Amino acid sequence: MSKIAILGAGPGGYSAAFRAADLGLEVTLIEQSNTLGGTCLNVGCIPSKTLLHLSQIIDDANTAEKYGVKFIEPEIDLEKIRAWKDSVVGKLTAGLAMLAKLRKINIVEGEAKFTSANSIEVTNNDTKQTIEFDQAIIASGSSTVKLPFLPEDERIMDSTSALALNDIPKNMLIIGGGIIGLEMATFYHSLGSEISIVEFMPQLASGADLDVITPLQKKLQTKCKEIMLETKVVKAEAKADGIWVTFEGENAPPEPVCYDKLLVAVGRRPNGKLIDADKAGVSIDERGFIPVNDKLQTNVPNIFAIGDIIGNPMLAHKAVHEGRLAAEIINGSDKTNIEQPIPAVAYTTPELAWIGKTEQQLKENNIAYEKAVCPWMASGRALSMDQSEGFTKLLIEKESKQLLGAAIVGPNAGDLIAELALAITNKLTIEAIAHTIHPHPTLSETNMLAAELYLKTATDLPNNT
Ligand code: NAD
Repeated sequence: MSKIAILGAGPGGYSAAFRAADLGLEVTLIEQSNTLGGTCLNVGCIPSKTLLHLSQIIDDANTAEKYGVKFIEPEIDLEKIRAWKDSVVGKLTAGLAMLAKLRKINIVEGEAKFTSANSIEVTNNDTKQTIEFDQAIIASGSSTVKLPFLPEDERIMDSTSALALNDIPKNMLIIGGGIIGLEMATFYHSLGSEISIVEFMPQLASGADLDVITPLQKKLQTKCKEIMLETKVVKAEAKADGIWVTFEGENAPPEPVCYDKLLVAVGRRPNGKLIDADKAGVSIDERGFIPVNDKLQTNVPNIFAIGDIIGNPMLAHKAVHEGRLAAEIINGSDKTNIEQPIPAVAYTTPELAWIGKTEQQLKENNIAYEKAVCPWMASGRALSMDQSEGFTKLLIEKESKQLLGAAIVGPNAGDLIAELALAITNKLTIEAIAHTIHPHPTLSETNMLAAELYLKTATDLPNNT
């Protein structure tokens, strides 16, 4: 029986391990922390979504007065919120530990470094052990990027310390208007922090089209103290009264500004350089990514790599897909890692989701496309939720009538995009979406209505919109 060693038990690593064990392979899963689940489950997606759910409740309670239901001001019990968040994470990590045990996976706790193309040394405090393997899968993920000029100070947080929720700062500067920055802005604002955001680029969440980000940007502009686009932080000094920040760029304040706390969310970098991959002969590029072929093999044929460490986007669902595939390929499958559209979601208010090509990418690559946009004010369900500013945008290839890309703005956008992911991945035509009977009244009808608008068969809106 082939012996597989997997470095890292995030979504990619544990999915690879579980699939490999189910295929009958002998699996050792090495993880430096004492729980499975990696960044996503322990200090990323799951705790942040748990907290964002509370933001949504606070937001809904605040707006309910408009509809005739008035709640009193919420009282925030931070200790209880932390306990709730930790209990959600705890249930999932315990579930993973049980699933690993059921599958008889050998879990080794400690830091793994390659010693050759068939061996890894695992260090846990003073103990070291060597794991021999026939094949290995590198799934050791990524770490937050640090800004080298920032001082060491506990008031300067990364996403992990922000999710630890030690207190609610009176005011906070978020450096980086990407998905983490925007989700944390949404959460900390709902708990009462005054938020400022500084973003280097001319638009927030620059991976999405401008029209998709605009409703969120407008909402954040009403909630935040300021959003400084095309601006960067160049200096920060930790003083007794706060962190004094100096800015440079288009919207930079002329003088340094004092903040109680800073959150640095300027991206993540792959952990490729931390595992002594060179001792196994595995190539790493200068940024720390490990190149792989379409079988997810590194340049050393018995060593595979998946997830954040092989390239962007650094998303859990991409890593899970690759992890399962790597296990199957090691087991003899002739599948390959074909390029697939990967949905992206910002769990903000409004929620944003997009997949496939953006309009900007289509324009940049001179790819001809047609567009259909369904404004959610045509959806009875969206109106009943007072969410009429949302929309669904489909980008269509004229000849084949297949989707090239799609984006959704509004509640549950991340769930609704799954139908469009199915359509793009399986090359379904726009007719397939339009001719599928969708339940009424649901937000999912907006996908159908967008398709009908394109085909000029809509009845709930004039077809020339
Ligand atoms: P990001 O790359 O998405 O955004 C970082 C932002 O910081 C960019 O817009 C960049 O222009 C800006 N920036 C960089 N340096 C700056 C500087 N010096 N001053 C001002 N702005 C600066 O990174 P992130 O938001 O940290 O997220 C990291 C990764 O985690 C991403 O791959 C993201 O997709 C993933 N993630 C996904 C989800 C989700 O799926 N909901 C949630 C959180 C994180």
